[in-house]
Amino acid sequence: MRSLEDDLELARSLEPSELADAIESIGFECTRCGACCTSHDGDPHTATVFPDEVRALLAADVDSPTDGSGNGPPEDDSSSGSTATVREWRDVARPMPYGLREIEDESEPDGGGIDSDDATSATRLEGETFEWALQTDACGDCVFYAEDEAGVGACLAHEDRPLICRTYPFSVVLGDDESTALGQPMGETVDEEGVVRAHECEGLGRDISREDAETLARTLKERAIRELEEAIAVRDGYQPVDPGSGEVVVHDSEGAKRIDGTVREK
Ligand code: SF4
Repeated sequence: MRSLEDDLELARSLEPSELADAIESIGFECTRCGACCTSHDGDPHTATVFPDEVRALLAADVDSPTDGSGNGPPEDDSSSGSTATVREWRDVARPMPYGLREIEDESEPDGGGIDSDDATSATRLEGETFEWALQTDACGDCVFYAEDEAGVGACLAHEDRPLICRTYPFSVVLGDDESTALGQPMGETVDEEGVVRAHECEGLGRDISREDAETLARTLKERAIRELEEAIAVRDGYQPVDPGSGEVVVHDSEGAKRIDGTVREK
């Protein structure tokens, strides 16, 4: 069985021109349908966002994320003359829900328990988890997703969106096997070429320019390397904690954190 370090070496040896060949062969053009930014079958949108990507989104010159009342850009705060509002960590990221327990919400939590995505308001989550997911609104859609009146979707944070979003709907496998440690986008694999895998997306099969394919290929390699560096840092820095009642602890590459992104002291 390969180690994460072995996979990292494989990721660093990926040849962007070969990835671009595969992407060009499969074909892709974003139709702005929003499927990769929204909830599916009642499950909230879940996409990994790394700590520095959260900070980039916090600092990004974008309109405020939606406020939990549904999709759509925020209303203009004409009193301040600006559409920008203060964003906090929790506006941008939520703990990755996998591994967390649902508990009855009997009181306000001591360590920042969070409402379950699909449970009633009387249910909360607690426990330890790894990494962050993009925050979702009340509909389960990414908080940065907005639609215009014609239903055409857009990312309010397009220039600062995470690597997983920049490379959708593609992933790579390492070492010619599918048991890779790399993250997978939402949706089943529906096409493949070489080490590139394409996941469910209505934009697949459309013409893509060589320039765009090469840009996507470089970002796909960057993402593969980044995911493995992050996984190695999480593994090496992991210190088991004993979360309090109603508390959620998130382990990322920078250590154990509370749900507001601050470091959790032991
Ligand atoms: S950050 Fe942008 S591209 Fe990524 S899921 Fe959210 S709306 Fe979509």
